[in-house]
Amino acid sequence: MYIGIDDTDSLENYCTTYIGTILMEELQKNYVLDIPKLIRMNPMVKYKTRGNGGISLHIVEKNNELSDSDINIIKKTVVKTVEKFSDFKCDNTNPGIVFLSEESYSKNEKKLENYYKSVLYDILSVDYTEKLLNEINAEFIKYKNGYGIIGALGAISSKPPFTYELLTYREESVWGTKREIDDFSVVNMNEKTFPYTFNNLDGKKPIITPHTPCPVLYGIRGISKTVLNNAKNIIKSERILKSQIFVTNQGTDAHLRFMKIKDMYPDTGVISYGQVVQKPIEITGGHVLFKIKDDTGEINCISYEPTKEFRNIIRKLDIGDLVGVYGTVRKNPFEINIEKLKIVSLKKQYDKNKKCECGGTLKSKGLKSGYKCNLCSRKIDYDKISTFEIKRDIFEGFYEVIPSARRHLSKPVQLYDFDLQVIDKYD
Ligand code: ATP
Repeated sequence: MYIGIDDTDSLENYCTTYIGTILMEELQKNYVLDIPKLIRMNPMVKYKTRGNGGISLHIVEKNNELSDSDINIIKKTVVKTVEKFSDFKCDNTNPGIVFLSEESYSKNEKKLENYYKSVLYDILSVDYTEKLLNEINAEFIKYKNGYGIIGALGAISSKPPFTYELLTYREESVWGTKREIDDFSVVNMNEKTFPYTFNNLDGKKPIITPHTPCPVLYGIRGISKTVLNNAKNIIKSERILKSQIFVTNQGTDAHLRFMKIKDMYPDTGVISYGQVVQKPIEITGGHVLFKIKDDTGEINCISYEPTKEFRNIIRKLDIGDLVGVYGTVRKNPFEINIEKLKIVSLKKQYDKNKKCECGGTLKSKGLKSGYKCNLCSRKIDYDKISTFEIKRDIFEGFYEVIPSARRHLSKPVQLYDFDLQVIDKYD
């Protein structure tokens, strides 16, 4: 049996993963469950609270062994927990629960696979999801405007590539107070677990704690459960009430796909290879903008101020450079918000050699008169002067925004050598 849950928390209260953790604890007393999932969906959804994440649980059954009474108990436990830990007072919180039987899941794998793609790439409606839920014989509960069922089914339908996140939770009595974590121990943990954990630090600053007063103490992302458990042991912090490892699509680029410029539309994630056709320019607010073209069209690409030093790479691009832009398409203005950049090839740049054989300097006298040496008065035609190649001060390869400006879904370059299709191979 599959259970999907989404949209239970607000910026002030709770966290959907906390419901997942409590349910794991409860249900594991009587049933066997797979590792739970924390799945991020299209980051361009406007009404998301934080990272557009939903969760799903899977009660493992051999031969549909759950009795009707089991199923009833499970559903009641889920509903009770969601109702207890959802912030119904918040206008923007619209919980949704989906129950899907083992049989319906396996009969509808293709439909679920397609749904997962659309929940990552597109903006879906409640009606669209509801129609599919009825088609695949799922049971669901919509609270308030029902948005939560979109992500609840999204979490159930997710497929590799995956990574993990180990989440720790605080005692309820301290929710909302300052989190006590020894920064140095996080730096130490990062050093000891690299490259098997990621996005722990921005420079030397730990970024593993949320900014909201939610039950989460910290989260460590990684690709090995063993390493994550070791990492938790290295971190010195206040008392941890509970912890749970989730399988997740964070750090996988699951929201991006290769697309030609003419096919692009707003609010979707793309990978676009093309040539720089307009030099980077500075935009008010510290943002940097340049234009690329492929064989179907042109599009602006923007690197926002919070991406900090990443903009220095963008600033060095020049007309003719061949790049791959990874990011999401904004509607207004229509442009790609860059998450990552691949410099495929740098256009060679040349300058004129203005040193004369006599040691003097060749001065330009205009297009018609060419150059004249200031010492020996030697003259050279404008187009006869020799040139030399200027060394570019960037290199071919991948560049990514700083960790604190990264989307949950963005794949860090440090994970490029790992196979995230079969995630348990690193344990
Ligand atoms: P948190 O990360 O704190 O759990 P959140 O950022 O996940 O919060 P939600 O409160 O879950 O934000 O709100 C996101 C809403 O968007 C949910 O109702 C979810 O069902 C819905 N949603 C998810 N993906 C899509 C999509 N592709 N199209 C439309 N709605 C979506």
